Amino acid sequence: MTQTPTATRQIVLASRPHGAPTSDDFRLEEVDLPELADGEILVRNMLMSVDPYMRGRMNDAKSYVAPFRVDAPLDGGAVGEVIASRADGLPVGTHVLHRLGWREHAVLPAAHAAVIDTDAAPASRYLGLLGMTGLTAYVGLTAVAEMREGDTVFVSGAAGAVGQAVGQLAKILGAKRVIGSAGSPEKVARLLELGYDEAFDYKETSVRDGLRAAAPDGIDVYFDNVGGEHLEAAISTLTTFGRVALCGAISQYNATEAAPGPRNLFQAIGKGLTLRGFIVGQYDHLAHEYRPRASTWLAEGRLRGDETFRDGLDGAPQAFIDLLAGANTGKMLVRL
Ligand code: NDP
Repeated sequence: MTQTPTATRQIVLASRPHGAPTSDDFRLEEVDLPELADGEILVRNMLMSVDPYMRGRMNDAKSYVAPFRVDAPLDGGAVGEVIASRADGLPVGTHVLHRLGWREHAVLPAAHAAVIDTDAAPASRYLGLLGMTGLTAYVGLTAVAEMREGDTVFVSGAAGAVGQAVGQLAKILGAKRVIGSAGSPEKVARLLELGYDEAFDYKETSVRDGLRAAAPDGIDVYFDNVGGEHLEAAISTLTTFGRVALCGAISQYNATEAAPGPRNLFQAIGKGLTLRGFIVGQYDHLAHEYRPRASTWLAEGRLRGDETFRDGLDGAPQAFIDLLAGANTGKMLVRL
């Protein structure tokens, strides 16, 4: 019988980055694991997610989610297997999704873990298309941008985890045309394989020119993962009563000074545009609607998503640094 571990390894925030994070901002530590209390489980983490929002949590700034603390472990989405349990209903061997990533083992109350079915879909999908990533794409398109059949939809960051899902979901839900932008020719080619009608490399052309060429008749919906130049170009290209889901602004996450706003925001007046921000957690009530639909679309092969894997807890900081620089196609995950 394998012995229950009494210690584990975790990544702590060593310092708050100025600009782009570096490996010096992280530290690997070995720590003792606490004894399980009643109602708690010990999980061996198999996979953890690195996500752009974690960059914001490295700053000491008030936001919708608490900042990471210096010298304390980072956290985030993870899936793993219960290897010791003092909780009814979560026996050893159960696979769970929880929030204590960035460590090899986690002790947590059973109430903070959700059981996942790894026979129905690979564990990684619960951190991607069947998890926060997919739900973000779905609620951004449906509840936030109120996409309608026949719309032309533009998606930035389109080859990333959320972006790949947005384009495919838009087509499934009846969009007429879907246009994506991404940061390399390989990513552009992949978008076309995934069903995007048009895609352009924003590093090869200005977003304004790329979008004009791809959408000569304008766009009805813009799903914004990037902000900055992308948002400005989209505002110019949106048709009357166009709608924008403000999902992310990754072009500004490492900025050391406030970035200028879209210089053409005034156009929103004449065109009657709606620009609406959202956090996926504000739409948790739509998860029960999304998950069964997504499971079906996945099983049918209509919804696909790439996964970029890195190995080992030691590799997690670099995976996160590389994610912000665009090394991933689809969801970036770390195998532990
Ligand atoms: P991605 O998988 O999309 O990874 C990030 C990608 O951003 C990179 O691959 C890179 O691709 C792109 N990128 C980096 N810098 C720039 C830049 N300066 N300009 C344009 N693109 C850039 O991550 P996610 O899918 O997890 O997240 C996508 C966006 O959605 C993020 O902004 C994130 O913060 C946001 N988000 C928001 C949520 C919400 O609740 N509102 C929930 C989840 C995510 P490339 O090679 O194309 O540059």
